Amino acid sequence: IQWEKQVRNSAQIHRSGGMSVLVTGAAGFVGTHVSLALKKRGDGVVGLDNFNNYYDPSLKRARKSLLNSHGVLVVEGDLNDGKLLAKLFDMVAFTHVMHLAAQAGVRYAMENPNSYVHSNIAGLVSLLEVCKSANPQPAVVWASSSSVYGLNDKVPFSEADRTDQPASLYAATKKAGEEITHTYNHIYGLSITGLRFFTVYGPWGRPDMAYFSFTRNILQGKPITIYRGKNRADLARDFTYIDDIVKGCLGSLDTSGKSTGTGGKKKGNAPYRIFNLGNTSPVKVPVLVNILERHLKVKAKRNIVDMPGNGDVPFTHANISHAQREFGYKPTTDLQTGLKKFVRWYLSYYGYNNRKGLQ
Ligand code: NAD
Repeated sequence: IQWEKQVRNSAQIHRSGGMSVLVTGAAGFVGTHVSLALKKRGDGVVGLDNFNNYYDPSLKRARKSLLNSHGVLVVEGDLNDGKLLAKLFDMVAFTHVMHLAAQAGVRYAMENPNSYVHSNIAGLVSLLEVCKSANPQPAVVWASSSSVYGLNDKVPFSEADRTDQPASLYAATKKAGEEITHTYNHIYGLSITGLRFFTVYGPWGRPDMAYFSFTRNILQGKPITIYRGKNRADLARDFTYIDDIVKGCLGSLDTSGKSTGTGGKKKGNAPYRIFNLGNTSPVKVPVLVNILERHLKVKAKRNIVDMPGNGDVPFTHANISHAQREFGYKPTTDLQTGLKKFVRWYLSYYGYNNRKGLQ
């Protein structure tokens, strides 16, 4: 009973015309920021996360405490627990689902391929099954990935470009997600928006990502491994700052329209949309390292090796004109500025407080 009250409180809307949103993966990097932004503008938010140990669970717990202190409840549970999901939908008439829970990372698939199937395929279907039967049906916005462009080397990537050559199991499950969500849109009238994020970074970020582990190693005086591609070419990524991604998530939620079914039956045409959310300004990985060195005031020990062919692609670059047209998406933070904010957070979170003179 106490728990149900907490769920309802967290879902309470505090602005006229506001939405109530189930955010999956709420204790994750992007989920934390999106949940806070929704709550701050007066929307109701209930989080769901299974707190798995793919990376440091204590960081997820710390994000959860941050969310709790802003009035967002994060329910501990798995996407595949259909009963729990149904119970949440019984308690709250969610207008939207922001689906961010997933097994992320491209290299980990070589160690634990099943975790990708569990979360990104089975978990997605479990969530969509509950959404399709809910009354009202929520509009679903979910995180796909720039990795769906795979071996496509025609940059910048536009949404209509080919996505039939994934380079990792992660990418393959995200591509499958785009097709699975399409069938739920087609058969059951669920409003679906897929967001292809491009390498998101920032405070409260993911320890498995390069900018984060580089920072850790540089500060600890350990070497960092930098991959290079064919013909010794540097890898490049369209690094996108978290605040820009949050704006894109809110913009797509606000324009996601309505689902057109009830109780599992479709009534009319609901939107099915896909958007790139990137920065349109790729940066070579060695340049990212230079920026980190400047902010940290420590030289990195570089260990440069050929890319081992474990799922990484040589470069990414988003064309964002579709999102720009539909909801005015316009990234405003360059890598230099964004990394400064990340480093400031990192030093304070990990207790490097007495370091003087951070630029
Ligand atoms: P994250 O790993 O920090 O967040 C995902 C969260 O989902 C985690 O807290 C995890 O515990 C939770 N989760 C995983 N499987 C679950 C399950 N079966 N049930 C319940 N909870 C589960 O990752 P992130 O960087 O915040 O990414 C958010 C989304 O964006 C993911 O779908 C990811 O694939 C996608 N994405 C991220 C990036 C990026 O650069 N960060 C780029 C492209 C796409």
